[in-house]
Amino acid sequence: MLASARAQRQAILDTPLAPLAQQTVALQDWEWVAKLQQAATELGADLFGITPMREEWIFEGHTVTQRWIIMIGVAHSFDAMKTAPASYAAAEVVRQYGRGSRIAKGIASLIREHGHEAQPHGGPMAGPMVLIPPALACGFGELGKHGSIINRQFGSSFRLACVLTDIPLVADRSDTFGADDFCVNCRVCVDACPPDAIFASKQLVRGAQKWYVDFDKCLPYFNEAMGCGIWCCHVSMEQAWRRIESGRKDGGTPSIEASCRK
Ligand code: SF4
Ligand code: SF4
Repeated sequence: MLASARAQRQAILDTPLAPLAQQTVALQDWEWVAKLQQAATELGADLFGITPMREEWIFEGHTVTQRWIIMIGVAHSFDAMKTAPASYAAAEVVRQYGRGSRIAKGIASLIREHGHEAQPHGGPMAGPMVLIPPALACGFGELGKHGSIINRQFGSSFRLACVLTDIPLVADRSDTFGADDFCVNCRVCVDACPPDAIFASKQLVRGAQKWYVDFDKCLPYFNEAMGCGIWCCHVSMEQAWRRIESGRKDGGTPSIEASCRK
């Protein structure tokens, strides 16, 4: 199952982008946003956002010249992720990385068909920059104590991909809905993390107080276990998901709210 998911993802990565059209189509920024948002939805994206590229997001030794980063989010099947650390959950992660890459490539191809350059990147090797900070900047959610984004609809159960481009676009706003405040008094992920990699309080990271995960502790465990059965917010996401589902059944707006109440 895992091998098949990897093969499918590789086939997506090997698919060439649309050729760059000779004729350039000039659109207004808001026209581009509407066109790309619609395309992302049709291609199956669960989250879509735009933010200007920032120097501090680029890995040392890499170069990004494009002005904009278009972010894509794709949600996991929660039932599949609940089976972690079984390989079914690992295959689901690979499937969603593949889906994110396919959508990013579709959007990049659309831009190229209009005569403009665009560069897609899908996780987990997301190219020359980090993806969580631009995803936070364009409204995908707040940074949780477990070091991942908490989105108001999908919690932390989604993956990221992106497209870099210079076409005129409009930036989205960040989204604050109380997750950071909730994390202050919650320690579900801290207590659940086997190697004690999640700090209970914010740490000073490059001059700012942030939630922080010690990856020197996390990664050896994560790699040895072929993933992490705790999967950070997974423990508490189950309860949150039930609340979201009951909100849906009640006709209410699905919301992660302060998601991780035990
Ligand atoms: S489990 Fe609690 S502390 Fe950890 S990320 Fe979720 S809400 Fe924040
Ligand atoms: S992935 Fe697992 S080991 Fe790593 S920080 Fe999360 S709970 Fe801890």
